Amino acid sequence: MTTIRTRFAPSPTGNVHIGNMRVALYNWLYARHNRGQFLMRMEDTDRERSTPAAVQTVLDALEWLGLTPDEPPVYQSQRRTAHLEAAAQLLEAGQAYKQDKGDTGKGEAIVFRMPGTDITFTDQVKGALHKAAQDMQDFVIVRSDGSPVFHLANVVDDIFMNVTHVIRGDDHTENTFRHIALYQALNAPVPVFAHLPMIVNAQGKPYSKRDGDAFVGDFRTNGYLPAALLNYLALLGWSPGDDREVLTPDELIAAFSLERVQSSAAQFDQRKFEWVNGEHLRQLPQSMHREQYIQAIPQAGNNPAYLDAVIAAMEDRVKKWSDIPVMAGFFFTEDYPCDEKAVNKRLRKPGALDLLAALHTAFAKCTPFTEESTEATLRDLADARGVKPADLIHPTRIAVSGLPFGPSLFKMLAVLGRDRVTQRIERTLNTIKPQEDSNAPQ
Ligand code: GLU
Repeated sequence: MTTIRTRFAPSPTGNVHIGNMRVALYNWLYARHNRGQFLMRMEDTDRERSTPAAVQTVLDALEWLGLTPDEPPVYQSQRRTAHLEAAAQLLEAGQAYKQDKGDTGKGEAIVFRMPGTDITFTDQVKGALHKAAQDMQDFVIVRSDGSPVFHLANVVDDIFMNVTHVIRGDDHTENTFRHIALYQALNAPVPVFAHLPMIVNAQGKPYSKRDGDAFVGDFRTNGYLPAALLNYLALLGWSPGDDREVLTPDELIAAFSLERVQSSAAQFDQRKFEWVNGEHLRQLPQSMHREQYIQAIPQAGNNPAYLDAVIAAMEDRVKKWSDIPVMAGFFFTEDYPCDEKAVNKRLRKPGALDLLAALHTAFAKCTPFTEESTEATLRDLADARGVKPADLIHPTRIAVSGLPFGPSLFKMLAVLGRDRVTQRIERTLNTIKPQEDSNAPQ
């Protein structure tokens, strides 16, 4: 059996879109699953866009995600001679001809002669595809300025690299008929093709920067895990055939097949992705969590036992590393920011400060100060005052954390401890004026 060889062949533009990376991932998964080889080719012939920095961005993205090619990358820009030789071979065989395209003074273009027969192939994702001879026209393979066209370079390089499976975006489906004609004219075996559906937004439009993080670099900067991005991208258009949603790279490799790739567009769901990332974070060792907290909030390193308690309390809330300073900062400083909107809504509401003052008194006597005892104290007070527990929970949360969201309030209170909690409530009572007074001079 011939060894399966797949390749990722991006045109570097400076940013690597998640759609491109998913193409790379499926090629990598398919090669790994079948004990084949995963290759890489830079289609860098556009000298304006394919700058060294743009090329490096692609290499960095692959490295960050661990999609390591098995051979050094091939640079298309360095293979121009081979492309032109192939064109000469086609000319010689009468499968191409020269034509003056009217760009006077620029010389003649080389045009590929379509075979004049229908072309059919079985796409591994889309099924049987067919095009009638009369719907396909001859096309330019070398421009009149002597530069090879994408179709020629792409096919000649895939032949050179012994690629057996071309897995790419479905914007190339139409090109494939021409590519097959080129393979045949060059007497090369035609590879297997699989065209992947697009990634779209909630409105069904191509997923772009306007919809959220769209480039691999954004995910890296925002503290997501490469394994989580791989996991989520793999599930965008493919499923393992069971109900697993959190998979490690090795599990993805074991489960991957082209048969399970869907042909309809896949919708990128930021919230689902965050959830997947959170699940991957939870599987990381405690030492790594500590490191990330200390990196984000240096004083988190002062008290290891307290830090561990914070990590445990925040476990199901931190979905990405960049959440840490935003969501857990208040555990480590008295100088935490207060969400003004939440303060207005929950604390500048008639009766709120009164209730909070009563809770302050009750908490001062609450021993021991645990998750259970603080909850019982708060609920008893709510009962006694004839209000809902939520009427106390929300103001308390904002008083002690400054935030309208976070882990369970009682977990937070237990971690902070009675002294911090009562001091924070007291400070809040002293600084926030009730609604009636909010226009009064400060
Ligand atoms: N350079 C092409 C692109 O980025 C890829 C073509 C291919 O994979 O065959 O769309």
